[in-house]
Amino acid sequence: MPTHRELFLQHVAQTSTAPLAIEMVKAEGIYMWDASGRRYIDLIGGISVCNIGHRHPQVVEAVKAQLDRYMHLMVYGELVEAPQVQYAAALTRLLPASLDSVYFTSSGAEATEGAMKLAKRVTGRTQIVAFRESYHGSTQGALSVMGDEYWRNAFRPLLPGIDHEEYGSDRALERITEHTAMVIAETVQAEKGVRKAPPGWMERLRRRCTETGALLVLDEIQAGFGRTGSLWAFEQYGIAPDILLLGKALGGGMPLGAFVASRDRMMTLAADPVLGHITTFGGHPVCCAAGMASLQVLLESEAIKKVEAKARLFEEELKHPCIKAVRTAGLLIAVEFESFEENKRVIDRCLELGVFTDWFLFAPHCLRIAPSLLITEKDITEACKVIREVCSESE
Ligand code: PLP
Repeated sequence: MPTHRELFLQHVAQTSTAPLAIEMVKAEGIYMWDASGRRYIDLIGGISVCNIGHRHPQVVEAVKAQLDRYMHLMVYGELVEAPQVQYAAALTRLLPASLDSVYFTSSGAEATEGAMKLAKRVTGRTQIVAFRESYHGSTQGALSVMGDEYWRNAFRPLLPGIDHEEYGSDRALERITEHTAMVIAETVQAEKGVRKAPPGWMERLRRRCTETGALLVLDEIQAGFGRTGSLWAFEQYGIAPDILLLGKALGGGMPLGAFVASRDRMMTLAADPVLGHITTFGGHPVCCAAGMASLQVLLESEAIKKVEAKARLFEEELKHPCIKAVRTAGLLIAVEFESFEENKRVIDRCLELGVFTDWFLFAPHCLRIAPSLLITEKDITEACKVIREVCSESE
């Protein structure tokens, strides 16, 4: 009988020639267990998905309760489904008044796609300003705004009219004109290895968009839900986007994305053509129930208030001659090494010692840490001790 690992390599489509290919059999809180019984401290939480850890009891309970009522009923936007309605209302209560309409999708990339269509529809314009080293998803539209030629080039032709500028630059602001439909930016550039905008730039970006009538689309698919120390990362700049992209932690461990805008703007997708944006599974009731429960846990636990202190602890614990820098945006953390090879050695060895990490798409020499926000000080010190010990092995 072939093993699961063999079947995985043979029949599950591969996206790299060197997948980790470890079979996990259980996950709970900050931990995961593989088929041999080895326990791992999960420092990446499904890439910023599991903001309150794996299988939180309240989330599991909400999922089970919804399973007992109904699963899929009808394509998005026809029937009134309580989990969707309740979650949309809860999210909009926590957002500025101008963001009062939620279009639920099944993934982050689909949220990007929807926002691109909405911006074209609202402005009647087609040009887009995006940023180098940004990631907004892997579908064709999202790939077109992605900020890396290596990944884009293999799949041309892509969408025309997209201008990729340097994140945080003055030139980028100058490129926004009366012809620009939208500007899409991550509030923190995650895949660049945690790059924040220079002071004042986000505010100027907001002003420039307002002056020119371009819509500001902020992608908080990775930075949202407390990850950077406030519920929404844009709050830290005192600005609000015209369209907000959500995903990852939005679904509490289930697949869910969303683009959020004003109801007036969103209504442009309802007429001429009718059904301007369609999805079968977007806003799946079980996913919405999980997301809602997860948001409640996040808010009730007051975990967001402790994010900064935990980030400081990571910084203190990750001092080692091999570590060139530690960049944090709350609990989105990049640990910089000399090279990808050194980083990969550390990642692989940490894995052998039961600490699960990863690298970043546009910063392969940086180790990714994005754990559950409920991670304890004890887990942080234990995990960092392993990372330091692994660093010392190469000295
Ligand atoms: N935007 C950002 C900032 C992301 O980090 C990601 C995923 O990593 C996406 C968009 C795409 O989300 P998904 O993988 O759910 O399509």
